[in-house]
Amino acid sequence: MAVKFKHMRRFATLLCLSTALLQIGCVAENSKNSNSSDSERVNQAQNHSDSLKKNADETPKNIIVFIGDGMGISTITAGRIFVGQEKGLKGEEYELSFDKFPQLALIKTYNTNAQVPDSAGTATAILSGYKTNIGAVNVRPNENLDVMFLEGCGGDTLPTLTDRAKAVEKSVGVISTARLTHATPAVMYSHTVSRDIEAEKDLQDPFDYEGCKSISQQLIESDVDIALGGGRKEFSDEQVAAWQGTVVTNAPEMLAAPTNEPLLGLFNSSHMTFHADRAETEEPSLADMTTFAIDRLSADEDGYVMMVEAGRIDHAHHGSNAYRALKDLEALDEAVAAAVAKAGNDTLILVTADHSHVFTMAGYPARGNPILGLVRSVDRETGGPAADYQLDEDGKPYTTLGYHNGPNVREADSEVLTDNMVQAPDYMQQTAVRLGSETHAGEDVALYATGPGAALFNGVMEQDEIGQILADLLAD
Ligand SMILES: [Zn+2]
Repeated sequence: MAVKFKHMRRFATLLCLSTALLQIGCVAENSKNSNSSDSERVNQAQNHSDSLKKNADETPKNIIVFIGDGMGISTITAGRIFVGQEKGLKGEEYELSFDKFPQLALIKTYNTNAQVPDSAGTATAILSGYKTNIGAVNVRPNENLDVMFLEGCGGDTLPTLTDRAKAVEKSVGVISTARLTHATPAVMYSHTVSRDIEAEKDLQDPFDYEGCKSISQQLIESDVDIALGGGRKEFSDEQVAAWQGTVVTNAPEMLAAPTNEPLLGLFNSSHMTFHADRAETEEPSLADMTTFAIDRLSADEDGYVMMVEAGRIDHAHHGSNAYRALKDLEALDEAVAAAVAKAGNDTLILVTADHSHVFTMAGYPARGNPILGLVRSVDRETGGPAADYQLDEDGKPYTTLGYHNGPNVREADSEVLTDNMVQAPDYMQQTAVRLGSETHAGEDVALYATGPGAALFNGVMEQDEIGQILADLLAD
C-alpha cells in the first residue's frame, strides 16, 4: 500500500505540474454523477454515428485527418484574411483550401474532467473515439486519476487508430510540426496516463514510472510506417538505432529515403521551426511532408490512414504571437491543398482542431484593414478606411487581434502602439488578464470533411464521435 500511495501522490503532482505548464490549473475533483450521464451520452453519440453511417454508403480507401492544434474559428477567420492579404487581396473574400469542403460540423471539445480541454484528451477523442481526462493519452477516463495510474502504466485502453488501420492492413502515417512524442501525434500510436512521459528519462526524473514505457519507446515499437516531425531529443541513440527502417534528419534525406522500409524523420531536436522562420532551415514544410507521405503510402493497395498535425499554431498562440500562429495556419492550408490535389477521390479528408484559443478579432476595422494592424474604421463620408486610427478610452490606438489572457497586458500607461510595432513578426498581441502563457479556449471548433464518408460529419457533434466514425469506417 505504501508503494501505491507513493505512486498516487506522484501522479497527482505530475498532472498538476503538467497542467500548470499549460496554465490550466490542477483539475482534481470530478462529480460522482458525471459517469452515468457520460455513459448515457456515449450511447447517444454511438446511436447518432450508427444512424448517420446507414445514410452514407461510401467507405473510403484512405483517410487523412488534419488537426490544426489550437485552430479555433477565430484563428481560421483571421488566417483566411491573412493569407488573402499576402496574395494581394483585401482578404475577407479569400477561401482557404478547406473552406471549399462540402461538409461541416461543430465539435464539442471538453475533456471528461475539464471544461476547457488539452490536446491529449481531445486527440484521444478525435483519433480513438472516446473522451478522457485532461493530460491522458489513449487511456480510458476514471473519475479518480490516481486509480487510473494504479491500473497499470497504460491504464485501461482501447485500440489506437494505428491499431485499427493495421487490423485492416492499411499503412499508417503520422506527421507533426511538433515533437512526434507530443500529445497529438502520441495519440496515434501510444498509451500513457501522462502526456509528459515523452522520453525514457521522463520515467525516472523527477517521478518514478519504472516499468512503464515512454511515448518515444512506444513509437519505436509501433507499426507506424512513416513518422515525420520534430523531437529528436526525446529519443536515445539506442532507440533511434532500434527503429525498424530508415531514419532521416532533413528534407533532402527524406526525399532520398528507400521506399521499401519504414521511415522515421526527426527534423529538429524539439518542435520543428515555425513556418515563418523555416526558410533558414533544412526542414521540410508541412505540405512537403504531406505530399511525400501520400506518395509513399499510396503504394499500399489496401489504403492508408494518416494524421497530419499543424502543431505550432498552438505554440504561437500560447506566446500571444498572432503572426506566427497565422503563418502556421497558412502552412496547414498549403498541406491540405497538397493533399486534395494528390489524394484520389477514394480518400476521406478531415480538417479540424483539437481545441480553440482565447484569440479574438474585434473592433470595427474597415474592409481590407491589415489583419495584424491597428484598427482603422470605416470613414462614413468616403466609405473607405478612415485616415486616423480608432482610439480607445485612453486615447490610444488598438489592434484588431488580441487575446483574453497572456503575458502582454494592456494598461492605461502602456506604450502608444504604431503599425510598425504591431505588424512586426515578434509582436505579442495585448491581453486583458495577465498570465505567463496564453490559454486554450473552450468553445466549439469546426470540422470540415470531403470525400467518401464525409456526409457522416454534420451538425453539432461530440468530439469522440469523430473517432467512433473513423473506427466504423475502418471496421471489416
Ligand atoms: Zn496548447
